[in-house]
Amino acid sequence: MIQKILEKLASLLDILFPYHCPGCDRTTDAPCCQKCFKKISPQPFFHKDNRISLFDYNQEIIKKMIWKIKWENGFYEALMLIKKAEKIIADLGDLLDIKNKEKIILIPLPQSKKRLKKRGYNQTELIAKALCKLKPDNYLINHKILYKKEDIRPQTELELKTKRIKNIIDAFYLKNEEQTKKQISDKNVIIIDDVTTTGATLCEALKEINKARPKIVIGLALAG
Ligand SMILES: [Zn+2]
Repeated sequence: MIQKILEKLASLLDILFPYHCPGCDRTTDAPCCQKCFKKISPQPFFHKDNRISLFDYNQEIIKKMIWKIKWENGFYEALMLIKKAEKIIADLGDLLDIKNKEKIILIPLPQSKKRLKKRGYNQTELIAKALCKLKPDNYLINHKILYKKEDIRPQTELELKTKRIKNIIDAFYLKNEEQTKKQISDKNVIIIDDVTTTGATLCEALKEINKARPKIVIGLALAG
């Protein structure tokens, strides 16, 4: 009898507090407990080639939350981080002249079909969805513009920076350049990535999108 009550209590606690805080490892009702989450702050960094990262990837909590986004479909982790960086993202909106009332087109950095099938979802799409949830009037996701070739090795498998850069050259393509021009020419576009390190991946994606002549295109990564 007592055993059964304890089991029920444990499952109830799992429902109420389904997360382990990446900072203190205590069970919590959010992807990170409030106490630990207060300790982190966005550290926006403007990299060269129109790339911006919101958080410092060297922060342990950020690293763990991004791991969840990447491997455990962590939408709420993405949402929590996006909310935390809301002010910076709003400033970015000013930069992109959001006041013209036209929605900014979000392009989640694509994965190869093989990779997508293996993982079951695209983590950059989770981040884009988090942005849309926060400001539905400002953004529109379009994941049918940019595609990734099938034979590209995951960048994480390559240690050397030079090999990473070489690996990703021409890794992306527009399905239909003329069609894409109609969709994004003279519009503001943000390509979404999870982590930008060498910048090679985002730069290749930016290069491809630029062929369709958007008004402004930037690469936004959650961390860098
Ligand atoms: Zn904590």
